[in-house]
Amino acid sequence: MSEHERKLQAGLPQPPSAGQAMLPAATYEGKVILITGGGTGLGKAMALEFARLGGRIVIASRKPEHHVQGIAAIEAVGGTAMAVSMDVRYPEQIAAAFDAAAAAFGTVDVLINNAAGNFPVAAENLSPNGWKAVTDIVLDGAFFCSQEFARRCVAAAQPGAILNILVSYVNGGAPGHVHIAAAKAGVASLTETLAVEWAPDGIRVNSLSPGLFPHEDHSADMRSQRPEGYEAEWRRIPALRVGRTHELGWAATYLCSPYAAYLTGHNFILDGAERLRRSLRMPEFVPIRDQIPKRS
Ligand code: NAP
Repeated sequence: MSEHERKLQAGLPQPPSAGQAMLPAATYEGKVILITGGGTGLGKAMALEFARLGGRIVIASRKPEHHVQGIAAIEAVGGTAMAVSMDVRYPEQIAAAFDAAAAAFGTVDVLINNAAGNFPVAAENLSPNGWKAVTDIVLDGAFFCSQEFARRCVAAAQPGAILNILVSYVNGGAPGHVHIAAAKAGVASLTETLAVEWAPDGIRVNSLSPGLFPHEDHSADMRSQRPEGYEAEWRRIPALRVGRTHELGWAATYLCSPYAAYLTGHNFILDGAERLRRSLRMPEFVPIRDQIPKRS
């Protein structure tokens, strides 16, 4: 049996193929979904699944080339999308983006806080700017966007759903990722606090923690961690496979849908048991500074 055949037969089964609907076709008909960083990677993959279910997608990020590629992907599956230029670090840009979305599509119903920046670095080599860039985007950005969204839902007397995209190591930290691990832990805390504060207003706040989901938009920095490629990582995951971006999209569409109307303050982990992996005898310990070369 070839390695490829073994890979397909062992471990957790592959999900149904992309393009199939998990929820009724019109679940998001007439709904507006704003996704920060929705033009690339996992943001784009989630956008596609909301679009397939009738949602109108607002891609909110900085780079025009990401807007173009995100809109093209959504239109290719018959969906409707627009893009707004927005840096999640600046509340006035967020307010302007929500204004533009409302003018084109109506009040936003679902907010996905997906935007992030990340690069592997040993903690002692992380510059103040590097720390600030990542924590500003991930933690401050998620809070500013959530606050803007909730104020508008309350003013319109309209229910809403927020989904914060975390990481599977949110509870355990991650050597080489001190900045994003700390920021995502902060967003996990936001999820729980805001779920309680805003439930009386009809706003649900949940999080989704992906394990390893290969996609074509991984940065060179992130690829450098996996010299054999992201697909080869299946060997290191108990499921014996990596995640498929459309199954992450399915999870997101469920968590924000009316079928999850009583679900709030919850963290949904989708990682093939990667975070739980232990060995009878752990591999020899290698300090992170020996794994990541110092950045010049
Ligand atoms: P990605 O392709 O690098 O996407 C990041 C997105 O964030 C980009 O579209 C970028 O758009 C946007 N962004 C960055 N800084 C921004 C800012 N200041 N303001 C607005 N938008 C900004 O990364 P990804 O792999 O898809 O990751 C998406 C999310 O999933 C992240 O939260 C990440 O932590 C999480 N995650 C991913 C994996 C994985 O296996 N891929 C695993 C666990 C968790 P612009 O450049 O246009 O601004």
